Amino acid sequence: MLQRTFSIIKPDAVRNGYTGAILAEIDRAGFRIVAIRKQSISGPQAEGFYHVHKERPFFGDLCVFMSSGPLVLLVLEKDNAIADLRKLMGATNPANAEEGTIRKRFAGSIQENAIHGSDGEDTAAFEIGYWFAAYELI
Ligand code: ATP
Ligand code: MG
Repeated sequence: MLQRTFSIIKPDAVRNGYTGAILAEIDRAGFRIVAIRKQSISGPQAEGFYHVHKERPFFGDLCVFMSSGPLVLLVLEKDNAIADLRKLMGATNPANAEEGTIRKRFAGSIQENAIHGSDGEDTAAFEIGYWFAAYELI
């Protein structure tokens, strides 16, 4: 079933010059880029995006990191997009990520882990709508 998911190329990966290589991996895996925007985000914008994690000990540091420099916001589409992107990303901690995954290749730590991907249909819908207006999704 054709499905959409939301992704972010995180500030560490942009800073390290991996934007093009990660986009190439996403393309090679068969995703269609529905929307794409490079921008910086504020601390409060990061806090709103990651609100489900607000009680976690890493929440503050995570929001500082996410607002530390430009990132790339993406809406991606393919069959089974949500699960397939999570598989392409690899484990949250790059030390545990499988060979060939984006986090294995491009992530430096459990926090600075190169890429975000929605973890379910409800979160994908919330995250797409948080960053993009309907008229941008073409
Ligand atoms: P994402 O939601 O970014 O796709 P994920 O679903 O693999 O990643 P989550 O558990 O949702 O992982 O955590 C969100 C983000 O918070 C992680 O991607 C990482 O940047 C950061 N994070 C998670 N766990 C830790 C931790 N123990 N220490 C520091 N940062 C963490
Ligand atoms: Mg997550």
